[in-house]
Amino acid sequence: PVPAPVTVIGLGPMGQAMAAAFLDHGHRVTLWNRTASRADALVARGAHLAGTVEEALTASGLAVLSLTDYDAMYAVLDGTDPAALAGRVLVNLSSDTPAKAREGAAWAAERGAAHLTGGVLTPPSGIGSPEATTLYSGPREVFDAHRATLEVLTAADHRGDDPGTAALLYQLNMTMFWTALASYWQAVALADAHGLKAADLLPLAVDALNLQQFLEFYSPRIDAGDHTGDVDRLAMGAASVEHVLHTIRDAGVDATLPAALLELFRRGLAAGHGADSASSLVEVLKKPAP
Ligand code: NDP
Repeated sequence: PVPAPVTVIGLGPMGQAMAAAFLDHGHRVTLWNRTASRADALVARGAHLAGTVEEALTASGLAVLSLTDYDAMYAVLDGTDPAALAGRVLVNLSSDTPAKAREGAAWAAERGAAHLTGGVLTPPSGIGSPEATTLYSGPREVFDAHRATLEVLTAADHRGDDPGTAALLYQLNMTMFWTALASYWQAVALADAHGLKAADLLPLAVDALNLQQFLEFYSPRIDAGDHTGDVDRLAMGAASVEHVLHTIRDAGVDATLPAALLELFRRGLAAGHGADSASSLVEVLKKPAP
């Protein structure tokens, strides 16, 4: 089959990689970006830069949005000629909250457009690779109709009709990603204070962040409400976090993150979990901080 025409709105690093992947697969690609110059390299490769958002929308049945957030979608699409939106499929691959994704889908529906939410689980370097995955949610029939086009970007995994679901799964992913990566940056800063380079830390960091055995151990226990302190106790964990904090303070390094972590552990102790596993912090975290 002839590849379907595609419009890409938003040409940050992600949108540029997506437009390039569509060009690689022979799609007719129409672009729009607030800063038009970001389209230059893609136009040199054969993409068409639309002069207006309306022109970009009407050039293809499907428009991929790769913007900072949903407010950026409204900034771009609000006020466009309603005729340009009616009957289109908007695939919004911008990060935002589940509530914003649901609002966005309703906003599109009011204008006669279909909306798929997407959560892209790869950096730009993974775009174009079937090893990478994007989670989608929204109308199944819309997803099925455009699946082949979306699979040019990454493997495509539909997770249900609720437009909030893909956003939720994406934010769950990012909850872990940013915190884990920040822990690595923290360790690099501490290592640097001791004359060690990031390269020196690399093997230790790779091991430390490979948490699979811990996740597989805790997951069934957590679901069973079992926080037995048979292999680790929160009181031990709190003492360990204090050692981390003091090592970081002694080195004259910013201690914001370990201080916050110790506060969390101390709340667990105050709630009576000292003899339980540190996984009991899940129960503490289920409520807002006092
Ligand atoms: P950028 O923030 O670099 O790109 C943002 C795009 O949004 C640009 O095209 C920018 O236009 C546009 N934009 C932002 N605000 C407005 C506005 N008010 N009006 C019009 N246009 C606006 O993001 P990325 O390309 O890195 O990522 C795009 C999305 O994908 C984000 O939601 C991000 O969270 C998500 N994502 C990113 C990953 C990554 O590794 N980069 C990985 C997975 C997901 P202009 O060029 O004019 O500034």
